[in-house]
Amino acid sequence: MWTTRCKTSPLCLEMSTMKNREAVILGAGITGLAAAWKLAHAGYSVTIVEKEDSVGGLAGTVNWDGWRFDYGPHNFHTNDQNVIEFYRALIPDIFLERKPTYELYIFDKLMPYPLMGAKVFFALSGKKMTQAFFSFLLTRVRAFLNGIEPTDHLDEWIIRRFGKVMYALYFYPYIEKLWRTDPHRLSKVVGEKKIPILRIREYIRREIFQYKTKGAFDDLTQWESFYVKHGVGEISKFLYERLAAMDNVRVYLGEEVQTLATDGKSIISIKTSSRSIDVNAGVVISTLPIQLMTKYISNSDGRLAALAGQLEYCSVRVLFMKVRCPRVMGNDWTYFSENKFPFNRVSEYRYDKFEMVPEGHCSLTFEYPANEGDALWMMSDKELFELTYPHFSGIFKLDKADILDYRTAYLKYSYPRFTVDYQKILKEIFALIDGYSNLYSIGRQGMFCYVNVDGATAMGFDAAEELMAHPERTNHRLLLKKYHDINV
Ligand SMILES: Cc1cc2nc3c(=O)[nH]c(=O)nc-3n(C[C@H](O)[C@H](O)[C@H](O)COP(=O)(O)OP(=O)(O)OC[C@H]3O[C@@H](n4cnc5c(N)ncnc54)[C@H](O)[C@@H]3O)c2cc1C
Repeated sequence: MWTTRCKTSPLCLEMSTMKNREAVILGAGITGLAAAWKLAHAGYSVTIVEKEDSVGGLAGTVNWDGWRFDYGPHNFHTNDQNVIEFYRALIPDIFLERKPTYELYIFDKLMPYPLMGAKVFFALSGKKMTQAFFSFLLTRVRAFLNGIEPTDHLDEWIIRRFGKVMYALYFYPYIEKLWRTDPHRLSKVVGEKKIPILRIREYIRREIFQYKTKGAFDDLTQWESFYVKHGVGEISKFLYERLAAMDNVRVYLGEEVQTLATDGKSIISIKTSSRSIDVNAGVVISTLPIQLMTKYISNSDGRLAALAGQLEYCSVRVLFMKVRCPRVMGNDWTYFSENKFPFNRVSEYRYDKFEMVPEGHCSLTFEYPANEGDALWMMSDKELFELTYPHFSGIFKLDKADILDYRTAYLKYSYPRFTVDYQKILKEIFALIDGYSNLYSIGRQGMFCYVNVDGATAMGFDAAEELMAHPERTNHRLLLKKYHDINV
């Protein structure tokens, strides 16, 4: 690049720094907006391109005739003080502390969620409880005597820690339902990150022996919990409105990125449905799904897109329901882990808590993990509603006449599916992306990771800081370490 070739001259250095202080950001979800916020406030000239007419992406809020719906309950649960302070300072009136109430419906009863420690056994009927308990005990004794045999597969990782009975009764149906695939295809990393094995031990010590432990369980319970009044989409709306008012920021909404044109070494322009944006010597930060973004790169030999095509996602369909009564479930959300229910979670929004519905009413949001093309994905809104209603009203009292209206939405690329070899694939992908000297791929879909709104905000900031510190070329090493625990 011209800027690196003449870096010995002070004049050239100054010019290169000036030129490099441009960034084109693809996608106006939380990650893209957070990166834009940092860069714009550092004086960068920022262009944001978003395919939808509104911002927010997965963390958007749908305004349906004054009723507001999030795509699933967006509780803000975090221990990241930087992010908490950032939002607390910016939007104190809507960023409010709140402890949500959850329950799990399993084995025909409502149980406290998360179901941990001794409660797991008490949820079961007598015979199953005995079987599960002895299988668990035997597994733990074996693990104590012989150690736990390592494995790459999630099912084996769980069975070697919890026993076969618990796996069959509890884990298998939930995992298969949430990720829409056989758990044997998934990586043990899912277990390491999502299943609180240490916490169970601490929990038992705390609950049964009343020990006051200090460890992972306490750490998690000490995370702070917030909600955003009027819907999580208020965060992106706020960031967007402030950014759009800045002289050094341009935002193009309703423009789908179709091509990242390259000279083989860097991205030189971005082509949307209606314009071409010169990147000059600036940087491109993509938060698009990595499979799409890699397909859009021109002059590529196809290796990158082929690798990204091996990454799998689970999609989610959601059903929004307007209800003519102040509450139905009484809690904020209920999980349904068993396969007989097509939905895995239902969240309730009441007027007094969120002000997202008219007074005297509430709304329900049902989430259905699905693969695109599944029966659940393809059925009409009415068919999905008719499938759902009997399951739900069999548990919670809800008269059909009180349902004022319903509609569905489709969320593609919702959950990254961590298959056994995903880390190896990611390493290869990011090595190739780093071959383009001015391209970052970040965000939940751009980095194929499980961040929530807090993590997406932090990642946007991290990427912005990384590129400000190293304007000469992109490098995903730090981000891969922080967000995937991958060493490169
Ligand atoms: C069902 C569900 C429940 C969740 N619950 C919670 C929760 O309780 N708490 C929490 O903190 N987080 C939750 N999350 C996660 C949270 O929504 C995400 O982590 C966050 O929104 C990710 O932001 P992002 O900017 O990385 O990605 P996205 O929001 O996906 O942003 C990507 C943007 O790129 C745009 N785009 C895509 N293709 C193109 C193109 N070709 N051209 C231009 N633009 C394009 C998209 O429209 C989108 O706006 C949940 C997510 C889901 C799916």
